[in-house]
Amino acid sequence: MVGTHTSQHVPPGSASPTVAVVGSGPSGCYVAQFLSKTWPDSEITVFESLPAPYGLIRYGVAADHQGTKGVVRQFDRLFTRGGIRFAGNVTVGRDIDFARLADSFDIVVLATGLPGDRELDVPRDPRARVVGAGALLRALNGFPHHGLPRTPLGSRVLVIGMGNVALDVLRLLSKDTADFTGSDIDDEMLTQLRPERPATLDVIARSGASQAKCDAAMLRELIALDGVDIAVSGLDEKDSGPVADLLRAAAVPARDEPGRTRVTFHFGLVPESLTTCHGRTVLTARRRDDGGSAEFAADTVVTAIGFTHGAAHDDCCPGPDWTGDHVYRAGWLSRGAQGTIAENRKHAQSLVRSIVDDFAAGRITADRPGFAGVADLLAHRVVGFGDWQRIEAAEHRSARPGRCRRKITDLDQMLALATGAR
Ligand SMILES: Cc1cc2nc3c(=O)[nH]c(=O)nc-3n(C[C@H](O)[C@H](O)[C@H](O)COP(=O)(O)OP(=O)(O)OC[C@H]3O[C@@H](n4cnc5c(N)ncnc54)[C@H](O)[C@@H]3O)c2cc1C
Repeated sequence: MVGTHTSQHVPPGSASPTVAVVGSGPSGCYVAQFLSKTWPDSEITVFESLPAPYGLIRYGVAADHQGTKGVVRQFDRLFTRGGIRFAGNVTVGRDIDFARLADSFDIVVLATGLPGDRELDVPRDPRARVVGAGALLRALNGFPHHGLPRTPLGSRVLVIGMGNVALDVLRLLSKDTADFTGSDIDDEMLTQLRPERPATLDVIARSGASQAKCDAAMLRELIALDGVDIAVSGLDEKDSGPVADLLRAAAVPARDEPGRTRVTFHFGLVPESLTTCHGRTVLTARRRDDGGSAEFAADTVVTAIGFTHGAAHDDCCPGPDWTGDHVYRAGWLSRGAQGTIAENRKHAQSLVRSIVDDFAAGRITADRPGFAGVADLLAHRVVGFGDWQRIEAAEHRSARPGRCRRKITDLDQMLALATGAR
């Protein structure tokens, strides 16, 4: 049975299937974990674009939420003791084409996530400064790529969206530097993006406070920060639930003291356009209750309204032709950008159940060579798990005081560390 330590026998006469998992985020790792419990003899390879494993656990989950990131320790064991191969620095669709991968493995599980920030669908002046929350959190999480926001966000920032990712943005931007103790925040990037804490953070939510999607615990954490004052508009007396209650209790009159951050939640506003005026970005929104309009001028607008596939021309994102009877999709790629790490575990478990059923029914066979079928293409580029551990050890060694690691953000440096001991 999947999810226990009981292994499943393969049908008589057949070997265990070979498995390629594409993407080492939580979904890919959970699928690999459940498959290896089911078929301990099967050869499982997890392919990953980056030299570092774990997808959004490493590059999305906020740097000051190390407890959440701690889930990787159980995944580490898959690669160190569980017999699962980590093939980092391999992008399917670029370093190896999908057809070759599908020809080489009996089972292919695509778990490539949704890497792009969903864009706000309103008319927009090209000079408007708009940054996606995913890109911003990647930057603060030491993601090793160019093209992320680097210039200061300014003293007036507008955040569109009211989910947990929006609250991550609010907390990271308004938290005092001294309060990042124990995190692995990218300090250079934090200083670059936020030389000082913003004076105002305005949050624009379409729905009312009763329907807000964020967790009350996340809101509580923001409210408890030193130097943060909370304000709220569009909170109806009929609004109920933990978010409404917390905000009602936390709202305070404005304090005119330098160095404080005022976070104002605005409910029931539908964004209509992004223009610019005197170097600032202006959001015009329509009030849902009376149809009136409201304007907000900001140095930067951060959108936290969901995630999508990468760019349409990106041949590393699974296209409609990445299919086959033995090809499956897991995690955010299959369900859309919703759900926590724990929800990916549940989905991985039920996906593995259906893979096992397909195998038992003979819809999948065990006759492809597995990693041996692609090894010639990848000989000089694969970063194995031991290589990754060398990178990680260097990150721990170079941690600044009060930080648990200092992420290496330069891909060449990561690869040099990975291959250094070969
Ligand atoms: C900013 C942010 C904060 C979050 N915070 C939390 C939190 O605090 N708690 C929580 O429970 N959940 C949190 N989540 C949600 C959680 O991160 C997701 O549920 C989860 O990461 C989705 O897992 P996934 O494996 O489907 O995708 P991902 O984690 O995105 O993993 C996909 C992996 O596939 C790799 N990949 C992509 N294309 C290819 C390719 N062609 N070849 C090889 N590899 C490829 C990527 O590099 C990546 O490593 C957060 C999400 C975001 C965006």
